[in-house]
Amino acid sequence: MANDQSTETTQDLTDGFHLLIDALKLNGIENIYHVPGIPVTDLGRMMQAEGMRVVSFRHESNAGNAAAIAGYLTKKPGVCLTVSAPGFLNGLVSLSHATTNCWPMILISGSSEREIVDLQKGDYEEMDQLAVAKPLCKAAYRILHAEDIGVGVARAIRAAVSGRPGGVYLDVPASLLGQTMEAAKGAQSLIEVVDPAPAQLPGPKAIDRAIDVLKGAKKPLIILGKGAAYAQCDGLVKDFVEKSGAPYIAMSMAKGLLPDDHAQYAGAARSLVLKESDCVMLIGARLNWLLSHGKGKQWGEPFTKKFIHIDIDPKEMDSNQPIDAPLVGDIESTLGLLVDKMDGWSKPPADWTDAVQAKSASNVERMAPKLMNNNVPMDFHGALGRLKSIFKDNPDAILVNEGANTLDFARSVIDMSKPRKRLDVGTWGVMGIGMGTAVAAAVETGQPVVCVEGDSAFGFSGMEVETICRYNLPICVVIFNNSGIYRGTDTDPTGRDPGTTVFVPEAKYDMMMQAFGGEGVLARSPDDLERAVRDAIKSGKPTLVNAIIDPQAGTESGRIGNLNPQSVVSKK
Ligand code: ADP
Ligand code: MG
Repeated sequence: MANDQSTETTQDLTDGFHLLIDALKLNGIENIYHVPGIPVTDLGRMMQAEGMRVVSFRHESNAGNAAAIAGYLTKKPGVCLTVSAPGFLNGLVSLSHATTNCWPMILISGSSEREIVDLQKGDYEEMDQLAVAKPLCKAAYRILHAEDIGVGVARAIRAAVSGRPGGVYLDVPASLLGQTMEAAKGAQSLIEVVDPAPAQLPGPKAIDRAIDVLKGAKKPLIILGKGAAYAQCDGLVKDFVEKSGAPYIAMSMAKGLLPDDHAQYAGAARSLVLKESDCVMLIGARLNWLLSHGKGKQWGEPFTKKFIHIDIDPKEMDSNQPIDAPLVGDIESTLGLLVDKMDGWSKPPADWTDAVQAKSASNVERMAPKLMNNNVPMDFHGALGRLKSIFKDNPDAILVNEGANTLDFARSVIDMSKPRKRLDVGTWGVMGIGMGTAVAAAVETGQPVVCVEGDSAFGFSGMEVETICRYNLPICVVIFNNSGIYRGTDTDPTGRDPGTTVFVPEAKYDMMMQAFGGEGVLARSPDDLERAVRDAIKSGKPTLVNAIIDPQAGTESGRIGNLNPQSVVSKK
């Protein structure tokens, strides 16, 4: 009898572990990107036991990058779960990255007890994590009592996805997880968030103003950014662009929002349209460094343009250039209101659209022979020409891309034909996103993933090839191995050490994948490379293709070498 009673009592109780799991699941969060350890090891295990997909990584930065891109792909917060202090700090890099990129993410970290941390008594991995996180993310919360878990998770979700999305930190002290409460009361305390990202509509005056400015343009240009891809209103974006008749360019992660072979796509005439347009409409793209702040010769200055800008964050307006027609609202609602006013819209003057098309066509034609070379050692163009045709034949495949030259060349060479298929270094241009991004892309979409990685960029997250093999994910990592950062030819002028930017020549990265049971292939020619990547996509097996590129190929910092300061003191 006594035994029966105690079973009954435990059944009537719930605890912090279960409440946290239930709160996440209640809000449709099913995938967790994780590195186990004190005090969250059991939490990870229990999440898996409760049917969540828990992907355990080798380093928190990579788990965090996975959560960040999961947020971008799904419009739900991607969740990363880490241990305290050092694990938390590793995860914080990607939480800031998510915030900078305007992607919803929640970093949940275990932490030490308040009583010890606040008096600095010296706990295992002691750190005031909430205070550290606050300036680096959109919002940060700590939950101290089991009955507040529902509120804590609801606030984290709302903060992450509403308005301009971003990263949220949720601090979970170890003792919270073990706290118990009555199961029925626990269930009642959970919150299913209603309308987590409410629509935001610009007022009618703002819409009329924008329509007037756009109508007045003789040489309009539309710039689509990754905010427009994030918004997932692809049909509406297409409808608006086509109704407007204006040439458009796509920021790197917005490529494929409309197919890159669209008649209005002016990617190959980028310099011309930036310089000569008289009215630029930004849709989910910021006028930051990636667009040279909308200033300078590249933008045809001293000639001034009119700007129309759709963004959900009012503070973004006038950040770099005066905005003539600010449209503060979500892209779906805003484009819906604009399209309603565009019946019988007259297309921009043909001399503008014809000039843009002619320039595009001639640039594409000039590039074509470079992409068809079969040189050994390979150069970037010979290798990328093959990848371009592979993506053409596999439009559902996802491209993950990082590096310097590898990033710059791949961005312009490989066309995307569907939205959210190109995932890269984002707003910071950060190296190290590769394997985490690839894992989440495979987990969230189930599609084949091809990572095109500089050898240097790969090094930041390379150990996760073990994770890729362990979870048997359909990921093919292609390393553009030119034996160094930028190039493989630097030397130490004193003759003592290797040059600061070189690696072991022709490193056998393919053996890393073999070490964990995946396929590792060495490719010396474009033919080798093409065969290996096509096989990998077909088989769906974890594969690493070590593509040996000429160490002489590549320029300093790729296309952003101008950002390097130069010393004026002459060399010794
Ligand atoms: P890119 O790097 O592609 O130019 P950015 O990251 O600079 O793109 O800009 C994305 C912008 O999109 C951000 O300013 C963000 O506030 C905005 N944004 C994100 N989601 C939405 C949305 N649903 N509606 C409107 N704006 C959005
Ligand atoms: Mg390199």
